[in-house]
This record gives sequence, structure tokens and C-alpha cells, in this order.
Amino acid sequence: MGPASMAPGVLEAMIKAGVNVCRINASHGDHAMHQEAIDMVRKLNEDKKLKVAVLYDLQGPKMRIGDIENNLIHLTEDETLILTIVKCIGTKEKIQIKYPLFHDDVHVGDTVLIDDGKIELQVIAKAEKEEVTAKVIHGGPLSSKKGINLPYTKISLPSLTEKDKEDLEFALKNNVEWIGLSFVRSATDISELKEIIKQNNKTTRVIAKIEKPEAVRDIDNIVKATDAIMVARGDLGVEMAMEKVPVIQKMLVSKAIAASKPVIIATQMMESMILNYRPTRAETNDVANAVFDGADALMLSAETSVGQFPVKVIESMTKIIAMVESESVIYNRHIQPVKHSKSFISDSVCYNSCVMAQQSGAKAIIAMTHSGYTAYRISSQRPDCNIFIFTDNRSILNMLSLVWGVQAFFYNKYESTDNTIKDIKFFLKEKGYLETGDMAINVFSTPLDERGMANTIKLNVIN
Ligand code: PGA
Ligand code: MN
Repeated sequence: MGPASMAPGVLEAMIKAGVNVCRINASHGDHAMHQEAIDMVRKLNEDKKLKVAVLYDLQGPKMRIGDIENNLIHLTEDETLILTIVKCIGTKEKIQIKYPLFHDDVHVGDTVLIDDGKIELQVIAKAEKEEVTAKVIHGGPLSSKKGINLPYTKISLPSLTEKDKEDLEFALKNNVEWIGLSFVRSATDISELKEIIKQNNKTTRVIAKIEKPEAVRDIDNIVKATDAIMVARGDLGVEMAMEKVPVIQKMLVSKAIAASKPVIIATQMMESMILNYRPTRAETNDVANAVFDGADALMLSAETSVGQFPVKVIESMTKIIAMVESESVIYNRHIQPVKHSKSFISDSVCYNSCVMAQQSGAKAIIAMTHSGYTAYRISSQRPDCNIFIFTDNRSILNMLSLVWGVQAFFYNKYESTDNTIKDIKFFLKEKGYLETGDMAINVFSTPLDERGMANTIKLNVIN
């Protein structure tokens, strides 16, 4: 979200063209602007009966430089530059790093990247307490408040900064469906965030943004701890060698799928469409390949926040996605349930409902869930049919919009299994989702009123 998507009528058109989740990036704008964006999504949901989710993305331990004289200096290769933690107006000789422990954390030889790596510096000396001397390895123009990446430095910033805590409070007050955490370094970062959410009696789900080498190293624990992950290619490609990102993307997607957790591919997917009416061939291929890899969602940033064609870019992306999804290879992943695991019954039922859907050519898998687990589980098998999820838990309705292929409906009449199945069938038929003669598969839990794990599959024909 940004000025481009918040212009009158634009968001509605974007949603019509395929948007399921709106990201608000806490790094940009203020709470008043974020509130306006959240209200816009909520109002459209209400007016148009939609279930668009809000993802509020926390900045995390991201460092920035201070202000620059007249908002522009030019750094030249081989020249030296002082980096100070003392507030000052940046010049060619000295710039401020807005991080009090910068001097303590960096070592001689460390690389300092500014503005997505466009500027590269190397630390050559640590002078007084607050100053570090660096040599310009790759120069260029530099303006105020640009981000800094220290790929080889262990940063002692906490995972949730003071700003993040304020932003989190704002997001929880607004009951956003998803919270993103930037620059996750370990699974503990996620569990700490989840603990705060729990203390606030919220069920908000968490997305771990994978954009640091530490996170890639701790990925198994992070995937276990989190509700979803984001392949944050923008910073990941600065913090690590860019050529490693494609392989990491595939690894992250397959780990997310194996754990039945949604995965988002982010950054520069349609970058040229910030200014152009059409994507490049390379971008088209990248978007398509992300779907082939198995992404649940693809994210746009500047393309829709400040770009010239916020609606067109969604239309183009939707077309590419639809084309890939007409290929059978992306479906029926057959991820085997793990024997003796705590969730085996439910996992086996979800898996086999997908096998049954494949065998029968069913039009839909219809499942009931309270936590959303069944929806994640079925979705990650990528059945080649509709996934209709019915829940009495309002807080997960919009949240599920991030999960591949899932359409969620509110339902809270639990009289008997027979009645509920009949009732839901009737509802879907009336809404035009199913027709007489279609096969459909019901996944549910008996006894129904215990709202336990999915334990039953029913294959039936719509009459
Ligand atoms: P950002 O995260 O847009 O918040 O930086 C995504 C990325 O780094 O790719
Ligand atoms: Mn990032």
C-alpha cells in the first residue's frame, strides 16, 4: 500500500484484478496514513463482501543513515569517509549512522552497504569511541535516511526495536490478520513476537521475513516457530551474494510446503512496471517460476505503492499466475503425513482428501476448521479443485486469504453432521460454486460439536 494504491478507486480495482492481501510497510509513512490504509481495506471488505487480509510489516532491526546536506552528496571510489553515531548533517567527509552500537559492532574489514548495496564501503579503522573510518569501494549519489546493510557484522540490536513495539501495538489494536517481522535472525525472534501477541489476547499470525544469512542458517527452527515465511529477496540479495537467492528461494518454498505454512515471494517481481506499462520477459518468467516453485502469494512493493500502473501490474501478474496454474505439474504434491506425529490423524485425513479429489475429479474439497490448520494442510497439497473452508472463527476468515487456493466462509450452525453437510452443500450450490452432478469431498471432525481435529472424509455427489 502507498499513495498510488490509495488514490480514489484504485484499491478496489486492484482487488478486483486479484489482490488478496494488502501489505502496510511500517518503514514508510506514519500511523495516520497506516490507519487510512487499514480503514480502506476494511470498508471495501464490508461494502463488497470481501475477505482481503491486512499484513502489517514491522521494520525490525534495520539501520539507516542520518540526514544528508541538501539531500544529496556524491561518494567517490577510494576516498575515505567517517561514519559517526553522533547526530550530524552528512557530508562527503562524514555521515551519521543512526544506531548507537554501530561503533561497537563493526570490525576493521567489515563491509557497509548503503541504499540496497548501491554504495559499498569498507571499514579501515576504528578511531574514537563514536567514529569509524571507511573507504569507498563503490561510490555514487547518496541522499538522506537510506538503509544500511552490514552483511558480515553481528548486530546487537534487539529483534523488536522501540519503534517496532509502538507499531505492533498499533497493529494489534487494529486487529490486523498478519504481522511481518523484518530481519529475523533466529526462531527466538518469532517466539518473542508471538508471546507479545498472546499477552494481548490476539490471534494475529506471524510472517518471518527471511532476509539475513542468520535466518537462512536457522531456517528449520524458524519455520517451526512461525505461521508463514516471506522470501524477502530485496534485503536477502544485499545481505548475501545475489546469486545465492534463487537457490535459497527454492529451498525456503519447499521447507514451507513441507511444514504446510504459507510462503510469500517478495521484491522486484514486476519492478520495471513502476514506470512501464508492460513487464519484462525476465519478470514474467520470474513470476511464473515462483508459482512453479509453489509460492502461496507473490508480493509487490513500489510497483503498487508508488508505481504508475498499480492496477495494470496486478492484472499482468494475475494473467501469468493463471497461465501457470493451468499446468497440471503444480498440483497434487503428495506430501506424506508423518507417522506417529501429534497431528497424524488430521494430516492423514487432509492428505487423503486430496488423493480422493485427484482420483474422483471432485470440484471441491469442503472442510470445517476452527484454528485454520485443516485449511493450511489441504492447501499445501495443492489439490486441483476448489478449497472451501467453513469456520465459526471470525478471526481466521480474512487471514486465510494468504493461503493458496482457500476460500473461507463463516458458519456456526452445528446441529448434526448430516444437517451441516447438507446445509453447506445447499449454500455452495445456491451461490453457484457447485452444480448438480458435481463431486465434492467433505472433511470434518466427528462428533461435530467437539470441534476437534479433522478425522472424517465423505465423498458425495451434489444433487
Ligand atoms: P521490505 O522487505 O520491502 O520491507 O524491505 C522485503 C525485502 O527485503 O525483499
Ligand atoms: Mn527487507
